[in-house]
Amino acid sequence: MAKLLEYDGVVIGAGHNGMICSAYLAKCGQKIMVVEKNMEVGGGLDSHEDRNYPGFWHNIHSVFHRGLTMLPWFKDLELENFGIHYYRPDPGVVHHFLDKTYLGWFADVKRTAESIARFSKKDAATFLDIWTRWQPVVKNIVFPETYAVPIPIEEKRPLLEKLSAGREYLRYFETTPEEFVLQHFEHPCVQAFIGFLGVMRGYELDAPKTGYLIPAMIAWGVNPQLCRGTSHALGDNLAHMMSHNGVDYIEANGAERILVKKGQATAVVLEDGTVIKARKFIASNVNPVETFIKLVGRENLKPEFADMAESFRFSQTTPIFATNLALNERPKYITEEKYPEVAGSFMHIVGLEEYQDLKDLFEDCRTGQLPRKPFMNGATPSHHDPTQAPPGKATAFMWQLATYNLWGNALNWDKARGEWLQKQLSVWQRFAPNLDENNILSIDSTTPLDIERHDKNMYCGDWMVGEYSGDQALENRPFPGWGQYRTPIDSLYLCGSSCHPGGNITGAPGYNAARVIAESLGLKPWWTPLDFKEHLKRLK
Ligand SMILES: Cc1cc2nc3c(=O)[nH]c(=O)nc-3n(C[C@H](O)[C@H](O)[C@H](O)COP(=O)(O)OP(=O)(O)OC[C@H]3O[C@@H](n4cnc5c(N)ncnc54)[C@H](O)[C@@H]3O)c2cc1C
Repeated sequence: MAKLLEYDGVVIGAGHNGMICSAYLAKCGQKIMVVEKNMEVGGGLDSHEDRNYPGFWHNIHSVFHRGLTMLPWFKDLELENFGIHYYRPDPGVVHHFLDKTYLGWFADVKRTAESIARFSKKDAATFLDIWTRWQPVVKNIVFPETYAVPIPIEEKRPLLEKLSAGREYLRYFETTPEEFVLQHFEHPCVQAFIGFLGVMRGYELDAPKTGYLIPAMIAWGVNPQLCRGTSHALGDNLAHMMSHNGVDYIEANGAERILVKKGQATAVVLEDGTVIKARKFIASNVNPVETFIKLVGRENLKPEFADMAESFRFSQTTPIFATNLALNERPKYITEEKYPEVAGSFMHIVGLEEYQDLKDLFEDCRTGQLPRKPFMNGATPSHHDPTQAPPGKATAFMWQLATYNLWGNALNWDKARGEWLQKQLSVWQRFAPNLDENNILSIDSTTPLDIERHDKNMYCGDWMVGEYSGDQALENRPFPGWGQYRTPIDSLYLCGSSCHPGGNITGAPGYNAARVIAESLGLKPWWTPLDFKEHLKRLK
């Protein structure tokens, strides 16, 4: 007979957002169950041991956790007490060029500007100017907005217009990232460097109303941090923290159905038939197509809402083909001879020479073609964290953004994998010639299709979990009118990356959703969530 359980709240999906959301609410006194489809919690924090060489660990999803230890939930939930440790290598990013020059992003903005000045003094000055002008915009507007429930632009605009930082934000609000990059920077390498860092955050180059994210990125800094013991350690850490706060979780038993009675979500049915009754709420960490069309069902939705859910767009430019290597020694880059500081970089970019390469890649991704010119970003995790490889050995990886629907069908990746892997490797070898057959012990690859196979939330291999563009951003994410974590089904909420502020390991969707759910249930938050509108009113 099917098991029957009962909780105050059920969270569907144990991605970092689902786990963060559940912990905040558990600390408000709610009894919560988190259900996860995969064998292990963590979603995009997964890592695994090399299939051929034990002791080598590959991060197969997120690696660059930007400013993670500074984020509000990291502090509120006291994650450090559960044994997590982060490294912050400096430089954070090095973009290598074949003529053995490089562009770098350092903790010290002056060093970043110096590296840009070697390409263009004008661009270096522009970079420093944007960095300076946008400090107050990031501090007072962009960061608070990220960790708050978004408000409609009609309410936001008049408040922003009164502030100098607000006017700066609005100045670029309507533009695209590409417009911002090309209008401000002149050197094709600098344009490529800055544009690519935006793209690697999941920004669409040509998406309206997202151009302001580029100066925000410049002022905020890229700040990538590396989790000791692979990214999986963060997933584990969040799971321990949840348990410590009384949250129960089930793995390898995903949600099959959300039961709806008289317009209210009442229970979750799992793959094995277990029914979990939700006394107060259900929150979904999974995308709106899966949540509404598969789990809730069209029969429980108004047709126009169901149509909207079904037409939620996944990004065609975020899927990744990943190559992970187990090595005798770390990759040694051609730039190291002249610039030894690049060896310590966290992220390495290779093969990208000019802004046009990015545009070509976007076209290839959107037309289902292999990239005409491979260029990649990656890292050498074991160089910073020796736990990720046996003593004296190394792990390294490179990611190529690539189409999901290869030649019109994602299954073609199973055929194209080997050939593409070699192509990607041959470009990498031009920048790190010691990646030869004596050095490489084992090669592991993940295609865009594998990403979706592994994480059923990431439809079409889209790790942003929804294209990030004006009509799917801020208060419009996932849909205009439903951008505040609520849904038309009573007691059903969204708490994943399909909501504001989108994908990446920010924890912000889970953090913001917890506030909305707490308020709806009449619970007093034990933390201090920010009311963005009131915050803007207080600013001078
Ligand atoms: C190759 C790759 C590289 C990346 N690199 C970075 C990076 O360097 N930095 C960064 O910040 N971000 C990176 N990301 C993106 C980041 O991993 C995601 O944006 C993030 O994981 C989204 O978090 P989430 O909690 O919203 O969803 P997810 O992490 O996708 O979690 C959702 C969870 O729900 C589960 N699920 C799905 N369906 C069901 C169901 N029916 N029932 C129960 N459970 C279900 C899934 O198994 C999953 O565990 C990368 C992603 C990939 C794939």
